[in-house]
Parts: sequence; C-alpha cells; structure tokens
Amino acid sequence: AKTEGGSCLRIFEPEMDERLRTRRLLITDLRNAMARQELTILFQPQVSTATRRIKGAEALLRWHHPQRGMISPDVFIPLAEETGLIVPIGAWVLEQACQVARGWGGLNLAVNVSAIQVRQASFVATVEGALARSGLPPACLELEITEAAMLANSAETLGILSRLRSLGVRLAMDDFGTGYSSLATLQRFRFDKIKVDRSFIRHIAMDAKAVALLRAVIALGSALDVTTNAEGVEDEGQLSMLRAEGCEEAQGFLFGRPMSAADFQARVGQQDAR
Ligand code: C2E
Ligand code: CA
Ligand code: CA
Ligand code: CA
Repeated sequence: AKTEGGSCLRIFEPEMDERLRTRRLLITDLRNAMARQELTILFQPQVSTATRRIKGAEALLRWHHPQRGMISPDVFIPLAEETGLIVPIGAWVLEQACQVARGWGGLNLAVNVSAIQVRQASFVATVEGALARSGLPPACLELEITEAAMLANSAETLGILSRLRSLGVRLAMDDFGTGYSSLATLQRFRFDKIKVDRSFIRHIAMDAKAVALLRAVIALGSALDVTTNAEGVEDEGQLSMLRAEGCEEAQGFLFGRPMSAADFQARVGQQDAR
C-alpha cells in the first residue's frame, strides 16, 4: 500500500502527464508547422485617433493546427520561445509581412519580436535581409518589443537596438505598463512609440484611476517625444477619451479585428476611395 503522499501524487500524476504530453506533441508539431504551411499572418489596422484613417497594421501570427484547430499565439509563442523555434518562425514572419506591406504604398508595418530574437547577434542581418528582399523602406517597419525583452537590458541588447534604429527601423515598446521595468528602460533607450496595454484602456469609462494612469502615460510619451498607441480600443467612448487626452494612435476591435492581407488591402482601398 502507498503512503498518503503517494495517493496525493496519484491524483495529480495523470493530469500532469497529460499536460506534459500535450506540450511535447505541440512542440513536435510546431517544428513542422512552417514547412506544412500551417502558419499565417493576420493584420490589424492601426489608426489615427484624430482622423480614424489607417496608418498601418500590426502583423499577428496564427497557427492552424490540422487536428486541434486554431491555436492562439498566447499558447504557442511561449513554446516557440522555450525551444528556440521563435528564431526561424520570427524570421519567417518578418520576411512574409515585409513582402505583404511592400504593396501598401507607404503604410506602416508593425511586427512583434521576442526577447530571444533581439538577443541574437544575427537579428540585425535578418531584419536587413527582409527589408532588402521585399523592397519595403526601413521607415515603414516598426518592431514591437515587450518590456520583458528589456529585462536582460544588457549592453549587447542595447547595441542591437541601436543598430536597428540606425537602419531606419522604428522601435515600439509593447504592453507598456504591465511590467516593472518600463520606466527604467525608457530612460536607457530611445523608443519611437509606446503601446499602452489594453488593461489600461478597458476601464477608462468607469474608473477615474484608470483615466489618471492613462493620462500620465500619454503625458510621459509627449514629454519624451514618443508616439502613444492605445491597444484594445473597443468602443466610441474609449476613442473620444483617448482623443481628448492626446493619444495619437489607436488599435482595437472598434477599427478592425486582425484580418487577412487581402481584407486589409480592401479596407485601405475603401479609405482611399473616399
Ligand atoms: P500583442 O502584441 O499585445 O497583440 C495584441 C493582441 O490583442 C492580439 O492578440 C490582438 O488580436 C488582440 N486585440 C487587438 N484588439 C483588441 C480588442 O479591441 N479587444 C481585445 N479583447 N483584444 C484585442 P493575438 O493576436 O491573440 O496575439 C497575442 C499575443 O501573441 C500578442 O500580443 C503578441 O505578444 C504575441 N504574438 C502574436 N504574433 C506574434 C509574432 O509574430 N511574434 C511574436 N514574438 N509574438 C507574437
Ligand atoms: Ca504587439
Ligand atoms: Ca500589446
Ligand atoms: Ca500582449
């Protein structure tokens, strides 16, 4: 007979096994996902709060798993990061997205990059290559880096960021306000844009504190001469508040969900026809 500790283990073991097994299977599948063309990129409009005109789009990765259906990037990006697969996957996203954005006539393309990618010495060459092969002007490309990327905050990472900026590429700090290193990082490195996390926007209609925080972040952006983008804008009330507070750019379901390259092109076409 087993001890009590043993029976305790028996309760959790099958579940743990199952989770680990799923993880291992997903990692195996992820290794083949690119070759099997299961990855696609959607584009979400980024608009001017003043005019609602589309300024560009953020590239968002999707994985259509043959058995499991659509798997969220919140699930597979962490797996890709743990295994290093994010390096080839990230390079593929840059390559594809730049090719697509080449046809946008000067609109901006924002691409998410992981800390692991930015730490690779070869990253600058990867970006340069994607720009050169696509013909996308560097000024049209913006790299979104989460604060976590800065946790390393090593001289080496900062050197890579500087080299990217000298290519003419812009840098945005993603998910601003969700970590503790944001302010320190802004002091150490010049970003072109701050993306205010959705959690700040969600409550601005009914929470005075949320408005106060948002106001402070926008003031910070303007003091540092950095553009502010508000993420997750879902209604008109949020938009008018953002406009009143001086936030230049917004993104969210109010303007468009992430959509195919063709749908995005059509949206831009409609706008230009008006
Ligand atoms: P993120 O960079 O913060 O992207 C914004 C997320 O918010 C996207 O989720 C987007 O679909 C969602 N979103 C946009 N507007 C709204 C809104 O109005 N309301 C709500 N509720 N949600 C909104 P998604 O596409 O699932 O991506 C999740 C995260 O996965 C991204 O967060 C990003 O961190 C990561 N990710 C996506 N694609 C890539 C990629 O190519 N490379 C890397 N490294 N990470 C990626
Ligand atoms: Ca992002
Ligand atoms: Ca974000
Ligand atoms: Ca996020």
